[in-house]
Formats: sequence, structure tokens, C-alpha cells
Amino acid sequence: MQAVMLKPEHKLALEEVPKPSIDGPGQILVKVTTTAICGSDLHIKNGEIPIMPGTVIGHEFVGVVEEAAPDVRLFKPGDRVDVPACMWCGSCPSCQRGEVQYCETGGVWGGGFFKGRLMPGAQAEYVLVPGADMCALPIPDNVSDEQAILVGDVLGTGYHAVVEGGVGPGDTVAVFGCGPVGLCAIASAQLFSPARLFAIDVLPNRLALAESLGAEVIDASKVDPASYILGQTDMCGVDVAIEAVGMTATFNQGLGSLRRGGTLSIVGLFAEPVQLGLPILGLAGVRISMGLGNLGHMRKLMSLVSRGKLDLSALTTHTFPLSQAMEAYELFEHQKDKCIKVMLKP
Ligand code: NAD
Ligand code: ZN
Ligand code: ZN
Repeated sequence: MQAVMLKPEHKLALEEVPKPSIDGPGQILVKVTTTAICGSDLHIKNGEIPIMPGTVIGHEFVGVVEEAAPDVRLFKPGDRVDVPACMWCGSCPSCQRGEVQYCETGGVWGGGFFKGRLMPGAQAEYVLVPGADMCALPIPDNVSDEQAILVGDVLGTGYHAVVEGGVGPGDTVAVFGCGPVGLCAIASAQLFSPARLFAIDVLPNRLALAESLGAEVIDASKVDPASYILGQTDMCGVDVAIEAVGMTATFNQGLGSLRRGGTLSIVGLFAEPVQLGLPILGLAGVRISMGLGNLGHMRKLMSLVSRGKLDLSALTTHTFPLSQAMEAYELFEHQKDKCIKVMLKP
């Protein structure tokens, strides 16, 4: 089967690899129908996330069950299935607390280990999914692949940022970054009826999409977002700021836009340390929450998508056959043609 493989010297290639087959309990063999390119795939390609060359990459995928091990209860051949970006065991202390993103034996597709097995990536024709009953989710008939694929990664993460920020009715919220994660955070925040929702980015097409999701947009290349937000909120600041970029500048702007006692909820991943002004932050009483997205919210999110209460179909801007994966990466890496989410069809 064909798969996107990490090669030495920060290169990717479409290569022929063996098709996996079921060899243990709890497994389903998924024929991938749609897989997406994520910013993390570029971090892997460029060596910022260290992965061994020779690994198949990709962690966002949906597909159809081709075969299920006899003990699998929830899936049978022909079922459409959404698989989360990382898997969890359900029984370790983190899982028992409901924090499945910190599962002690969990792993992410294309690099991690799960149940003692190295998990290959999902930009491939087939993926063998262990622990399917625990982590995977059936896709309702009225939910497209393009919508379902977001549930298992960027939507789960955006929603997590909103929940961790404690957004409630009447709150003021600022979302820094209108990439897939930030846009999903904006749509998720709207579920909780904030009074005002600001969205900050530097790219006009992404700001336009944020506006279509009901946000008041701020172009950070034109104004200082924190000063602008203070001016819009009687110099008080927002209740919740969400950081979905992963840069020192947006981290500081997020803090600078908060009211006293407000919460900065961070899901952006940082490549460098950031200095904290603790003397002032302590007096302002701000709370900072950060971490990986909890994909245990998937079932709830799939239900919201299926019932038309969350619609993020506008995020998918481009679709390529898997055979043109290199062209798709070229477009995504250089943000050509206003791309946001790029799908690959094996
Ligand atoms: P992305 O790169 O598509 O989005 C980042 C956005 O930030 C872009 O739209 C960019 O234009 C904008 N931006 C850049 N500079 C800015 C500035 N100065 N002010 C405002 N906006 C600015 O990435 P994404 O896929 O949306 O992911 C966002 C972040 O979330 C990344 O750091 C990613 O690694 C992280 N992430 C975290 C998790 C998790 O579990 N915590 C999961 C997925 C992604
Ligand atoms: Zn991803
Ligand atoms: Zn666990």
C-alpha cells in the first residue's frame, strides 16, 4: 500500500509499505477514506518533533472498517469510523481521572507506542487500530469525512481550550490564532453563549472565516490586540483568553488582554521557553491552564456536528488524492492558495 514516509534530511516521500493485517485482540483494520495534513506533520518533517526517518506519518484520519478482531464489540466490516489522533488505555491513573491525553501507555499515530506496539502514521491506505472499542467512534451517516476528521484532533483541542478556560454565558473571550485549532475554539466558545468573542490573527482569509463564525476580528499586523481589547472592554479585559498559536508574542498579548482574575487557556505548543512576570501576574490573580487536548470529548462533539450545532466544513479548503501527497504538502507548507485544512484521499 502507499504511505507518506519521513525520509532523512527533512524530506517526505510517497512509498510502498506492507499492508497491515489483524494479529491480535481488540483490533480493527481501517481502510482510510480521508486523512488530513496537520501543522504537526510539518514540525516532524522539519525535525522540530524528533521522529525516526522511515516512519509513516499522519495522525488525522477516518475510514471504513475492513475487518474486525472477533472480540471487537462496537465495530463490524463496512462501518465508518473516526479514530482519535492519539490512543489511550482507559485504565491507568490518568485515564481513570478522565485525562486520556496523558494516558501512561497512550501513543500518537506516526510515532508513539500503544499497548507495546509502535503506531504507524495514518497518511496511508490502511491503518491497524488496536483498542478500537476504547477510543474509536462510529461516524453518523449525515457527518462527512471532512467534518468527522476534525473531531479527532483540532476540534477536540479547540473545545478543550474553551472548557479549560471555563467559558460561560455572558463572558468575554479572545482567541489568539485562527488556524484550524483557533477556529475550532471560536466555534466551540459560541456553544457557551459568550457576550463578546474576539478573534486575532494576521491572515485576512483566516480572520474572514473567524468573522463568519461570529467573532469580532482583530488583525494583529495592524493593531496591538491587547490594547485594542482593553479599549473595547472599558479597560477591564476579557474573562478568558485562548492561546492557539504557540508564540511568545501571543502568549504575552493573551495575558495582557485578560481582566484581573481571568484565565489564559493555552493549547498552542511552544518551541521556546517564555518568561513569566510573576510579581504582576500574582497581583492580577490570573490563572493559566495549558496542555494537550482531551480527545475524550469526541463523542459529545460528534453529536454536536451531527445535529448541526457545530459546522466547521469551511475549514477544508483543498483535497488531493494520496498519490499527490507531495503536491499537497508543498501547498500546505507554503500556505499557498489561502489553504487551511488539506485533505488526502487514498
Ligand atoms: P496554524 O499554524 O494553522 O495556526 C496558527 C495561526 O496563528 C495561523 O493562522 C497564523 O496566521 C496565526 N498567527 C501567527 N502569528 C500570529 C500573531 N502574531 N498573532 C496572531 N495570530 C498569529 O496551527 P493550528 O493547527 O491551528 O495549531 C495551533 C497551535 O496549536 C500550534 O501551536 C499547534 O502545535 C497546537 N496544537 C496543540 C494541540 C494540543 O493538544 N495542545 C493539538 C493540535 C495543535
Ligand atoms: Zn493534527
Ligand atoms: Zn491510560
